[in-house]
Amino acid sequence: TEPLAGKTALVTGGSRGIGRAIALRLAADGARVGVHYAGNETAAKETVDAIEAAGGSAFAFRTELGVPGDADALWAAFDEHAGDDHGLDILVNNAGIAGPGLIHEVEEADYDRVFAVNAKAPFFIIQKGLDRLRDGGRIINISSGVTKVAFPGMTSYAASKGAVEVLTLTLAQTLGSRDITVNAVSPGTIETDIHPWMADPAAKAHAARFSVFNRVGRPGDVADVVGFLASDDARWVTGQNIDASGGSGLG
Ligand code: NDP
Repeated sequence: TEPLAGKTALVTGGSRGIGRAIALRLAADGARVGVHYAGNETAAKETVDAIEAAGGSAFAFRTELGVPGDADALWAAFDEHAGDDHGLDILVNNAGIAGPGLIHEVEEADYDRVFAVNAKAPFFIIQKGLDRLRDGGRIINISSGVTKVAFPGMTSYAASKGAVEVLTLTLAQTLGSRDITVNAVSPGTIETDIHPWMADPAAKAHAARFSVFNRVGRPGDVADVVGFLASDDARWVTGQNIDASGGSGLG
């Protein structure tokens, strides 16, 4: 039996990278998955095609996040493509952008952009999605290992993920009365398009050494943790930030 049969999930940034792996995992577990994307329609279609080829159910829809009105636009696009049932059981806030910079290097506009996509968009997607999120549902926010140990070269990005983690904690308290769990998952370095530098084997080998397993993470390493949090097995886990970094920064 499929643990998520009859459930509907939404994965922001489900077209590529970690989000795609999460979409595939939730669909394999039986959920119907809304695959959100920003602009890469081809990638979103590939995700949906892969889900359908495996016997699952998915639909793609597009919304640019990090711009005024983005959350309203996202739910409107979701409604357009979701069919008759506009309810939701699992919301995964995964879409995010990198924001490199030492403290003195970060321009105000770059800071605003990183916070708009990584922190503000999830906040309002949740706020405006609460009435359609069914009791017993799940909110899973993708944070990052940069909140656990200091990464001075990613000041604004790390701060935006810190905001996501505190939001996770706060909402877990609020939504407990509806049996909704709210958790974060914090990946270490995962091989996706967000890291173009990984094309360099030396840089990739260096990044691998952060993990006690001496490899960089794969999107599926994170998706499997999300799959657990989305399932009934995780019903007693809320307000937590689950590390999925292959033991990065342990000692
Ligand atoms: P990718 O760059 O591979 O994919 C990003 C995804 O987010 C794409 O689906 C993209 O859509 C979507 N997206 C990006 N910007 C926007 C936007 N402005 N509006 C709407 N959608 C957008 O990223 P990853 O898979 O690597 O990262 C996913 C999440 O994991 C992020 O939150 C990231 O911070 C976090 N993370 C990643 C780590 C890593 O090492 N990879 C480590 C720790 C955390 P489209 O395809 O249409 O462009």
